[in-house]
Amino acid sequence: MSDAVIEARNVSQWYGTFRALTHVSLTVRKSERVVICGPSGSGKSTLIRCFNRLEAHQEGEIAVNGIRLHSKMRDLADVRKNVGMVFQHFNLFPHMTVLMNCMAAPMWIKGVPETEARRLALKFLERVRIPEQANKYPGQLSGGQQQRVAIARSLCMEPAVMLFDEPTSSLDPEMVSEVLETMTSLARDGMTMVCVTHEMSFARSVADRVIFMDAGRIVEEGAPNDFFANPQHPRTKLFLSQILK
Ligand code: ADP
Ligand code: MG
Repeated sequence: MSDAVIEARNVSQWYGTFRALTHVSLTVRKSERVVICGPSGSGKSTLIRCFNRLEAHQEGEIAVNGIRLHSKMRDLADVRKNVGMVFQHFNLFPHMTVLMNCMAAPMWIKGVPETEARRLALKFLERVRIPEQANKYPGQLSGGQQQRVAIARSLCMEPAVMLFDEPTSSLDPEMVSEVLETMTSLARDGMTMVCVTHEMSFARSVADRVIFMDAGRIVEEGAPNDFFANPQHPRTKLFLSQILK
């Protein structure tokens, strides 16, 4: 049996007539940590959003934890149970407490009983080291704390894989490290992760593989040491020279 958690083969995706992804193939194995980088507009978000069916690909095949994603899917709950996602702008429910933000999906999507949902929520708020914020509302928290709640909320679904879409890009600089530390600790625990990020120190210390995208394609990929020390493609070299200045 394959240990692939995400298997994307020859995936292409269009927004109307605009082609955002061209023949992208990527396999992510259990406990693997993959970092995706590349210029703005290169299709990074589109690709990972296809992995939990927030976007629909038109060509190629995607399977997540053995579930094939296709145009005739009616029930996305199975996919969403398996795939956690953390966004740049947190996307917490503002009218719910931190605790309820964490309890909602397990109760509503998975049918977990309330007491069990509460136990899970507290466990994962502990995990991201903010259990004392449980009864506050998102607006009462700092950006870094809100993002850690968003991570805890995803973990409450006990997903097979966590997707991160530039989770630190909208944070003030002093809050970036607390979120990266949380992500690093998840990685150390063996969580399967796909992270779109330009935090290259994180990529170096945590990633098994770094993938570089440009214009809707995977242009280059490699182990972090090779990727940073010895980029092959001119686009990769240019990109790295700009962000590692
Ligand atoms: P990245 O995350 O690498 O910045 P995106 O995946 O967001 O790139 O976008 C890839 C391309 O698709 C960009 O040219 C973007 O303008 C376009 N795009 C993204 N979302 C939409 C959408 N909902 N409708 C039309 N075009 C889109
Ligand atoms: Mg993006």
